[in-house]
Amino acid sequence: MIKPDAVERKLAGRILNRFEEAGFTIVKLQKGRLSHELVEKQYRSTESQLTGMGKKTIESMTAAGKSQEIEKLFGTNDPYKIGEQLIEWNRKFMSSSDVIAMILEREDAILKGRELIGKTDPSMATKGSIRGDFGEDSILKANLERRATRNLVHASDEEGAAIETHLFEEEFFD
Ligand code: GDP
Ligand code: MG
Repeated sequence: MIKPDAVERKLAGRILNRFEEAGFTIVKLQKGRLSHELVEKQYRSTESQLTGMGKKTIESMTAAGKSQEIEKLFGTNDPYKIGEQLIEWNRKFMSSSDVIAMILEREDAILKGRELIGKTDPSMATKGSIRGDFGEDSILKANLERRATRNLVHASDEEGAAIETHLFEEEFFD
């Protein structure tokens, strides 16, 4: 999925090109604005989603020597509880303006897709990845501004792929 920041920056064509060059076939594609309810179903409040997000904050803030800011920002050092706040920022961002949702196919699509998009924090993503090449944001900057990290693309993980494909077929694609 091409996120609001990439659509606004007119990077959709270049991002799509990366997927096609990496052997993905576009099966379905649609532009539109996601409702908050649909984003809640896309980014579910599972233990792994929330803890995963919280851990990224702890990792990034600690690496930047800002670990003492975590408690100030989130009122806790518990990754799950941090994740509960982060997921709200993310839902707000994802429903803030148009996205381009796609179903893409290739062998090992989930693994290759995640490799191609790069790490969550664009400032840590390797060159050659979409987030590494086009990203202008960081987890640290976003946290200090109390918003989701703008990282251009979403790609389903192992846990979400089948659920998300079904969800978008039902509730987003015409
Ligand atoms: P992804 O699979 O790499 O997109 O990362 P996640 O599924 O863990 O998180 C979903 C989205 O929430 C990310 O793409 C970011 O936009 C945002 N996000 C995740 N972790 C953090 C964080 O620690 N701080 C901030 N500000 N945003 C985050
Ligand atoms: Mg994810």
